[in-house]
Amino acid sequence: MLERGDVANSWRCERWDSLRLLTPNWQSRLPGFAYDGPDPDGYMTAGGVAELIGRYATHIGAPVQTGTTVTSVQRVDDGYRVTTTHGEIRSRAVVIASGACNRAVVPAIADAVPPDIEQITPFEYRNPAELPDGGVLVVGGSATGVQLAAEVRASGRPVTLSLGELVRLPRVYRGRDILWWMDVSGVWDQRYDEIDDLPRARRLPSPQLVGTPERTTLDINALTAMGVELVGRWAAVRDGRALFSGGLRNVLALSDLKMERLLDTFDGWAATECEDHDVDPPERFAPTEVPRSARWELDLRSGEIRTIIWATGFRPEYEWLDVPVFDARGRLRHDGGIVDSPGLYALGLPVLRRRRSTFICGIEDDARDVVDHLHGYLAEPLADSVRSRRGMRGR
Ligand SMILES: Cc1cc2nc3c(=O)[nH]c(=O)nc-3n(C[C@H](O)[C@H](O)[C@H](O)COP(=O)(O)OP(=O)(O)OC[C@H]3O[C@@H](n4cnc5c(N)ncnc54)[C@H](O)[C@@H]3O)c2cc1C
Repeated sequence: MLERGDVANSWRCERWDSLRLLTPNWQSRLPGFAYDGPDPDGYMTAGGVAELIGRYATHIGAPVQTGTTVTSVQRVDDGYRVTTTHGEIRSRAVVIASGACNRAVVPAIADAVPPDIEQITPFEYRNPAELPDGGVLVVGGSATGVQLAAEVRASGRPVTLSLGELVRLPRVYRGRDILWWMDVSGVWDQRYDEIDDLPRARRLPSPQLVGTPERTTLDINALTAMGVELVGRWAAVRDGRALFSGGLRNVLALSDLKMERLLDTFDGWAATECEDHDVDPPERFAPTEVPRSARWELDLRSGEIRTIIWATGFRPEYEWLDVPVFDARGRLRHDGGIVDSPGLYALGLPVLRRRRSTFICGIEDDARDVVDHLHGYLAEPLADSVRSRRGMRGR
């Protein structure tokens, strides 16, 4: 196991100060290793996650070589040449577990923003005190966007939030954490090969959730109540003005509709399967309030906005992977983690094999499936193994 930083590097170095998991502690389970602390329904800090993963590495005696960056992986003969900052390794198989969120996605319009506005991504953001005084434009309404918009607004700064697609969820439904429902109802168990539009499922923004001790719901209504101004998707910059799309009403209505459908699914499941669990009666939530007149443009030269935070998603970084396994959009070509090159595997990507793959608790089943295939591959005679790369659907 090669790690460029320390164990749990991303949780040590790449998260903002206040970040807590949006999944409850009991859901932070790793293979054979469940949360055993005093607050199973709480939400772990980034430091807590680093500590948990560190303990897990010790527990399983993980052979981690830290401080070792992989600079290149090339296909050679019947395996791979892995070049690292500490030398070269030959290996028949390689598992890519380098993360799905190594880089922030920033749209090209960022280049047209006037230079006196500071632009940062969640990787640079630490806390509101480090931002310049003045207005902040947060772009993106996923978990990251809403959490940062709320935190910056609470610091007293004016905040404008530009919304594209969003996934609305209440923190608690019928007395249970909403992610409990995802977990027990089987929604997160849906397999990748049962999903109609898999590329879309893999691109879906993270749900608008925050993990706070108070189990607060952080939806658009909560942000509006805090005084966050909403605008539509940021479409272009013209003559120093940000232009926003007029589709805000539809975006908000659609997120309400999708939430209702999901709650219906949970209610349907509860009606037949929930005898063993104590849940409250069904409930519904107020529709998202649509601003009466959302602005369509904002003059970026007026001084109103001093900082832009691009919460527009993350992507993996594969500059070191010198194997032709990418599609036209630069995405890794794989079938449930079986990459399109003999002996090459991937773990830790969104909806890799199930909906739950996106989260820490997804690794157990995914790792078992992928490692099963890997064992089979290594057990085959060399010449056969190259021919045997059939997908593992149904296995
Ligand atoms: C902001 C944010 C919030 C999240 N919140 C939650 C949550 O609440 N609950 C949840 O379940 N999941 C959450 N996730 C998802 C969670 O991060 C992943 O499920 C999990 O971390 C995946 O673990 P991983 O080991 O696959 O990837 P990572 O944690 O990204 O680890 C990849 C490791 O590979 C190393 N690496 C990368 N490139 C190289 C290289 N070339 N050479 C050597 N080492 C390399 C990195 O240093 C890193 O340590 C969140 C993700 C983000 C970005």
